[in-house]
Amino acid sequence: MEQALRTQLITAVTKELPEDKPRLLQGVGRPDEVLACAEAGVDLFESFFPFQVTERGCALCFDYDVSPDPERAGRAPPAVLELEENRETAVVAQQNGDLNLDERTQMTSFEIDLKDKRYQDDFRPLVEGCGCYCCKNHQRAYMHHLLVTNELLAGVLLMIHNTAHYLGFFRALREALAGDKLDLLKRRVLREGGRQTERKD
Ligand SMILES: [Zn+2]
Repeated sequence: MEQALRTQLITAVTKELPEDKPRLLQGVGRPDEVLACAEAGVDLFESFFPFQVTERGCALCFDYDVSPDPERAGRAPPAVLELEENRETAVVAQQNGDLNLDERTQMTSFEIDLKDKRYQDDFRPLVEGCGCYCCKNHQRAYMHHLLVTNELLAGVLLMIHNTAHYLGFFRALREALAGDKLDLLKRRVLREGGRQTERKD
């Protein structure tokens, strides 16, 4: 469903729902869509998205830090060049992908494809500043090796990082809603990780 129509429907439906009850939306997990739906009044989402990202051998890698304190802003945003490359990879993956595949199985620009050759000698963590077990102990090059050799450990480590990153995004979303910073968070997430036009590219 197009996000504009979805937002319109959610806004109309939530108007009819009791204010004091939480609203759960199923089937939405992309960070850009989560932001739009949360703004339209949704309180709860499912957590399948990090699993889907893990299944395609990718790592979530988008910025959601809206902290004004530079000391806390340990999560350095990925270099612009790298994000542009990610974006190209995502678009190429979409173009080369099986057109019959549901679009939700396609790589999004919120993630990096660790099977890509460019990571075979990249000795940085998946995301600089990430505190998860995977990022603290392993490097992109090792994850690339695990993925191309079909080691089961790849999925375990990726799932640890992707879950931690996704939960961090939701923590930031809750804080942004409480602190009236949703617009700032949206700019951060959409500029660094995804473009609204991405899916039409
Ligand atoms: Zn991590």
